[in-house]
Amino acid sequence: MTAATEPGHVPEHVYVDIGVVRVQSYLSRTSSLRGHRAASHTLAAATAREAVERAVDGLAEVNAEAGEVDGVVSMRFDVVPDEDPAPRVRLVQDAVLARLRQALPAAEFTSVWGRGTSYVEVYQRQMKPRIGSGEVRYDLPPPAEFPLAAPCRTCHVGPAAGEAAVTGSRRQLCPDCLQRNIPRDTMLDDGGTPEGRLVRDLGLDRPPEMFPALAALGGGEGNHLATVAADGNAFGEFFGELARQGSLDPGLRQAKEELSAKLSQATRDALQETVYDLHIEYDYVQLCVIPHVVGGDDVLLSMPADWAWKFTITFLQRFHASVREATAELIDRLNGDRTRTGRPGLVPPTASAGVVFSHHKEPLNLLRESAYDRMAEAKREAKGRQSSIQWLDLTADGPDAPRHRPVLLAKLRTPAGEPTDADRALSRLAGVPPAHRSRLAGVLRDRGPLTAAAVESRRVGHWEAVRPFLPPLDGPPDGEPPCGIGLGAALGMARRWPCA
Ligand SMILES: [Zn+2]
Repeated sequence: MTAATEPGHVPEHVYVDIGVVRVQSYLSRTSSLRGHRAASHTLAAATAREAVERAVDGLAEVNAEAGEVDGVVSMRFDVVPDEDPAPRVRLVQDAVLARLRQALPAAEFTSVWGRGTSYVEVYQRQMKPRIGSGEVRYDLPPPAEFPLAAPCRTCHVGPAAGEAAVTGSRRQLCPDCLQRNIPRDTMLDDGGTPEGRLVRDLGLDRPPEMFPALAALGGGEGNHLATVAADGNAFGEFFGELARQGSLDPGLRQAKEELSAKLSQATRDALQETVYDLHIEYDYVQLCVIPHVVGGDDVLLSMPADWAWKFTITFLQRFHASVREATAELIDRLNGDRTRTGRPGLVPPTASAGVVFSHHKEPLNLLRESAYDRMAEAKREAKGRQSSIQWLDLTADGPDAPRHRPVLLAKLRTPAGEPTDADRALSRLAGVPPAHRSRLAGVLRDRGPLTAAAVESRRVGHWEAVRPFLPPLDGPPDGEPPCGIGLGAALGMARRWPCA
């Protein structure tokens, strides 16, 4: 009897991942929504299951153990005993890379591989360390044939390589922008992109073509957008523990095979439910929340500025609920072992978010960077243990890191998901006329002590709306306000608070 036919034998696979390096950054290389959308569409088409399987022509299959992550192709094939898998890995990489390079001329790709009985384990033990130490295959864009050529008139990054009509006028473009310059109507979106999927699954009308039109769907002056980045907290710890216990406990085999896919599905479900809720509540039939990339537990979106708080709060709640449901059984099981060995239990992963408010003219690549910086600040605040949000209003506070602390989701929602006192207090504060709020913000900044603000708010008659954000009057002046959010932060939040 050979090893492969022994009962209980677990077959080994070779896993090969190929992905776009910093996919969000690549997609937002051009600042227009149109160029971004075209690249996102091309990426989805180039990485679609059928396209990839056609490219590798039977050498490997799509790896169903990996979750769907925009910009990553994961393949696997059976280990053949006594055969070095490296040459076959190379062929699989060559086939997929050739296809991706044609679709995304200026992108950088990397590929990493490993072998074993489950993807989760191989990823944790072999692929992740190799990515960390740079032991990966790189595929970089070819150098320009004429390095001294005029720069591309759209992205200003690559040298121009051809001419095309862009919104009416002829322009010199680099290969990547040429590829992005496809008329919208020829992008038959069958639900391959994150945006197409929402339109299809929710039965909404397609979103606006350009950022100004998207901003105009919001209230107020209708020229401000929000860029929201959100990402799961402490997922690595969770996967690491599963790989560790999974290598000892064959009963965890199925969980290992399904978890990545389940978690990325949980993210997509949370996004879809949140977008659905908001469109029902605001009674919109046109998609107003544009997801750029949805990768595993990571999302980046654009929306009208006054949708952002409601969207972010709802999404973080739904994400946690969805992930908790997907992981409940597994966490109980993993924690059984942790309890026995005296280690603290794992909790279902949450997510944190960074939100940047801006004029619609700001380039998307800068907004993306700032949104990710804010998200990192939010994560640090709660050490990845709780949902948290950091925000920055470029129009009021400038581009530097915000001076206020991130806000924990728990300050805005009860464990049952109901609005807290702080949430209601913010709605009251948002009802104070904007001129009074900005005056109050000025006094707070110039005269520092909160008592100055208190005097001012009494004078203009909004004491009740301001009071929850001041330290208790019988305590120290730098004490914690009863609702947990200081007046400065509250005034910043109130500016874009949904009912303002
Ligand atoms: Zn270009």
